[in-house]
Amino acid sequence: MTIAHNIETIRRDLPASVKLMAVTKQVSVAQMREAYAVGIRDFGESKIQEAQAKQQELADLPDICWHLIGHLQGNKVRKAVQIFEWIHSVDSLKLVQQIDRVATELATSPNICLQVKILPDPDKYGWTIPELLADLPQISDCEHLKIRGLMAIPPLGLTLAQTQQFFEQTRDLSHQIAQQPGSNLQMSELSMGMSGDYLPAISAGATIIRLGSILFGDRLKP
Ligand SMILES: *Cc1c(COP(=O)(O)O)cnc(C)c1O
Repeated sequence: MTIAHNIETIRRDLPASVKLMAVTKQVSVAQMREAYAVGIRDFGESKIQEAQAKQQELADLPDICWHLIGHLQGNKVRKAVQIFEWIHSVDSLKLVQQIDRVATELATSPNICLQVKILPDPDKYGWTIPELLADLPQISDCEHLKIRGLMAIPPLGLTLAQTQQFFEQTRDLSHQIAQQPGSNLQMSELSMGMSGDYLPAISAGATIIRLGSILFGDRLKP
């Protein structure tokens, strides 16, 4: 199947409220152009260097919106703020504050998703629910950030019902945060759902799904 066909097939069933981000780690720029040709404008990358190289090769496509979806190290914050409009993988207060400082210096205001761990997961970064609730006042103080919502990835091995519940808990947490007294966090986006679980994510209210292998085929295993 072609990339265009895969995209059209998925798009046919997407509610208008859901944005389809193409995750293009390990995907060639030629394949990215195929996705662009059928209307994809949101591209997600997990590594700064790979994204930067692709941005140079795709410089003739000016209206791409670039999303960082991989863990961000403190020493790469400046570069990340320079080359991404969205950072979905913001996973600690320290990182939020670093991004805010750099955004202030660069006079920009990146879109941020806060990565949460709804269930314990040793393989993932992110706030636990109590940690995130405790950090909210300081997150709200970061005036140069557009805090758009939560990002979550379910742990491996959940049943469909557990996956559904995981996404619903993420949505409920987002509502809870938006309603905190004094909260200035809009929390209008929910970045959740990948190739294997985007349907339950959408049922639970995802607004941005991040699809890689279902569009481009399997990646090499690391
Ligand atoms: C790789 C990746 C995806 C896409 O995964 P697929 O299963 O290939 O759709 C989505 N989100 C994040 C954070 C990723 O690292």
